[in-house]
Amino acid sequence: MIELDGLSVTYSGGIQALKSISLDFYQGQFTVILGASGSGKSTLLRCLNGLRQVSAGRITIKGLGKLQEPKVLHQHRKRTGMIFQQHQLIGRQTALENVLIGRLAYHSILRSLLPLPKADKYIALECLDRVGLLSKALVRVDNLSGGQQQRVGIARALAQQPQLILADEPVASLDPASAHKVLSFLRQICEEDGISVIVSLHQVDLARAYADRIVGLSQGCVVFDGSAAEIGESELDGIYDNTDDTAPNQLEEVAS
Ligand code: ADP
Ligand code: MG
Repeated sequence: MIELDGLSVTYSGGIQALKSISLDFYQGQFTVILGASGSGKSTLLRCLNGLRQVSAGRITIKGLGKLQEPKVLHQHRKRTGMIFQQHQLIGRQTALENVLIGRLAYHSILRSLLPLPKADKYIALECLDRVGLLSKALVRVDNLSGGQQQRVGIARALAQQPQLILADEPVASLDPASAHKVLSFLRQICEEDGISVIVSLHQVDLARAYADRIVGLSQGCVVFDGSAAEIGESELDGIYDNTDDTAPNQLEEVAS
């Protein structure tokens, strides 16, 4: 559904965050982007949603066209849900109000200043139910745990009725049990709704447990692309080689 062709991104300081990446992403697949910090995961995800301009190369969205074209970008964004590391919810609003934000793309700016129709509320409540949080719908988000907040983030993305969900290290600040819960819900949504999910992770064990496909990034290059079963010690060495020495600690943390 998305085709990357020779994608490069160079930041103003001269750092080349992505180096001529060519990849295809497929509908309904759960893809994990695995890599040490600084390997280019966030940059790649931001490119996939047009939040970061590419320096060279092309992104083509199947059925829509080239992402560089404003009309294509608009259509693509409407059907793409984003989940961030710091969930970016509005703390003083309820879970339901936050999830309703996911419905705004379906209304004009003028209309969205008024209370949204009942149908939108129903969709939002359904999405909260999908992530096991219906009973928390009227609770202020800043009274929820980190894992619950991240699940509200998933519900908000889901309320957009997306074809694609992009999640940038959605479990980075969660304890292992909450991390598993969040990834399980994402995985379930991917399977049941046929939504493509592309999620970046730091932790190999989590990638192995949930991914249909793992794309390993190291210093802006794709150094692995295959199934979870195909990733062994030498592939891991390739992904974590001389970029970041925190990866082994993270592994121990997940294993414990
Ligand atoms: P990751 O998400 O895997 O940690 P990033 O995509 O954030 O990797 O970063 C890739 C590289 O680009 C790093 O070297 C980082 O320092 C650099 N970088 C990221 N964002 C910017 C920016 N806004 N300006 C300059 N350099 C950046
Ligand atoms: Mg990042």
